Amino acid sequence: MYSDLTEQLNVREKDGLKRHRQILQGPQATHVTIAGREYLAFCSNDYLGLASHPQLIQSACEGAQRYGVGAGASHLINGHSLAHHELEEMLAGFTGFPKALFFSTGYMANMGVVTALMGRGDAIFADKLNHASLNDAALLSRAKLIRFPHLDLNVLEQRLTVSKARRKLVITDAVFSMDGDIAPIQQLLALCEQHQAMLLLDDAHGFGVLGKQGRGCLSASDDIDLHSPNIIYMATLGKAAGVFGAFVAAQSEVIETLIQTARSYIYTTATPPLLSHALLTSLKLIAQDEWRREKLVQHIAQLKQGLQSLPWELSPSMTPIQPLLIGESGAAVRISHALREQGILVPAIRPPTVPQGTARLRITLSAAHHQEDIERLTTALKKLAQSH
Ligand SMILES: *Cc1c(COP(=O)(O)O)cnc(C)c1O
Repeated sequence: MYSDLTEQLNVREKDGLKRHRQILQGPQATHVTIAGREYLAFCSNDYLGLASHPQLIQSACEGAQRYGVGAGASHLINGHSLAHHELEEMLAGFTGFPKALFFSTGYMANMGVVTALMGRGDAIFADKLNHASLNDAALLSRAKLIRFPHLDLNVLEQRLTVSKARRKLVITDAVFSMDGDIAPIQQLLALCEQHQAMLLLDDAHGFGVLGKQGRGCLSASDDIDLHSPNIIYMATLGKAAGVFGAFVAAQSEVIETLIQTARSYIYTTATPPLLSHALLTSLKLIAQDEWRREKLVQHIAQLKQGLQSLPWELSPSMTPIQPLLIGESGAAVRISHALREQGILVPAIRPPTVPQGTARLRITLSAAHHQEDIERLTTALKKLAQSH
């Protein structure tokens, strides 16, 4: 077995696909320290700049004083604390659903929802560019997995029409993690209602960022009926919310079913309550600090303006995920390395994570960035484009 593993690892290395972890020597922020050197970073999902916010740090400490550091048991035994419960009630109210359930991670939330609701004889309809956790969940559920081309609602409609499955579930990223584009939620919902299908929205990158007070993709437009019983809303709390965890918000019957049967909820230790306690503060800041979302809008405009004349195109994204399409993998990696030498971190994303020929620099912006930070990045990229 070991020679097998070594051989596979060597192939990865040779193909330039071996991944390495960089060691952060301090908090997640727009300026991070790696191997003693400071870098300006455009790669975190800390969109609102909350991951090392003093008020959240203080809440985490207070939570530790009040609840200790470990939950000590799963939620259904006796690990479900007041902090978890308060957070769930606040999340349900904030997103406008009757109930919410807190999970340890977004990966586990997706696993839990899809496997609890779907099984043999059911059908899952999934966008081709969905997050890996949704695909894994669909496979594990044993339902039939039917994937449709990215955002192609005509194909989705055809597939829904011919399906004879008992239960139907459409699953989609609300904001696509590698492209930053937004799913047409209203049209998806209309299709689901028409075909008696449920719609699972993964708003990992929209929660806190989109909509009124950062309530997410469903509050981004006034004319969507948020309270459609067909919607199951999922979002993570380790990205814009700056802490850790995830939640599912839906009708009471769905949430109760998850509590009873979602294996990734039942068979795992509850997250430390101190994190839920910190998340209560995070939710307050998300709702109240409109300036963070305004800052993001300014940064996005500045980046688009600054990169206008480049030979590479920025995707038409209105979210803090701003991919710069390079095309060829080698070129994307070279540009990423060149930026790194100048002290700027922007990851190159290559196939198979993204389709062939669409290697890109995935620039992510944060409200904690300053105007000068964006300018430093655009200037560096322009220089690299000239010498490219
Ligand atoms: C990050 C992410 C997840 C997983 O969430 P974690 O809390 O990091 O496990 C799920 N779906 C999407 C679209 C994501 O981007």
